[in-house]
Amino acid sequence: MTEGAGPGDGGAGGDLRAAIAACRLCAPRFAGTATAHAPRPVVWFRPGARLLIAGQAPGLRVHLSGQPFRDRSGEVLRAWTGLDEGTFYDRDRVAIVPMAFCFPGYDARGADLPPPPVCARTWRAGALAMLPGLRLTLAVGGAAIRWHLGARSVTAAVGAWRAALDCGVFPLPHPSWRTIGWQRANPWFAGCALPALRAAVAAALADRDGGPPLPPGARAASCVP
Ligand code: SF4
Repeated sequence: MTEGAGPGDGGAGGDLRAAIAACRLCAPRFAGTATAHAPRPVVWFRPGARLLIAGQAPGLRVHLSGQPFRDRSGEVLRAWTGLDEGTFYDRDRVAIVPMAFCFPGYDARGADLPPPPVCARTWRAGALAMLPGLRLTLAVGGAAIRWHLGARSVTAAVGAWRAALDCGVFPLPHPSWRTIGWQRANPWFAGCALPALRAAVAAALADRDGGPPLPPGARAASCVP
């Protein structure tokens, strides 16, 4: 299900979510890709969320299902974070706001196209402003890491996760099959970073008492590794 401003989703931010769900800015761009698809924004956030998953952009499976991370990447990310499906998809606790809300398509060689920058320029600041209760942001993949931390190297940013976590951001590589080799080359990720990630996610979701919010991660320049 792709969320617009459906039943139970009115009130604060409903207009913005409805506007994103109706967005067709990239229609000409997507029509020119190998997949020649129409925009289908996958909008998945509500104001009460404590955890933000800032991913890249929906893949083809997510485009078809309308549910974020309903694919192999989602299985890996749920294993990394320790979140069961019920919690992962609870929009009152977990917001999923990627760098583009639509599937960008494939190029002529069948490779994923990057998220269209116009999406973040148009919608991201407004969407993040709707999430004042965030305790933790997971910056997943290069585009989200660049946005939230200003860093250009994924490996360097993830390696500096402790400093980023002090600013409320946990940088992660994209949880695709390509990460298998990356994890072999960086054994500290599974041995050290992932246990810390699970603890940080659990603490963020357990924090319901309205303590001081951590930076939700518009850019946190002080956290650049
Ligand atoms: S990717 Fe973003 S800007 Fe482009 S059509 Fe989808 S919602 Fe609109």
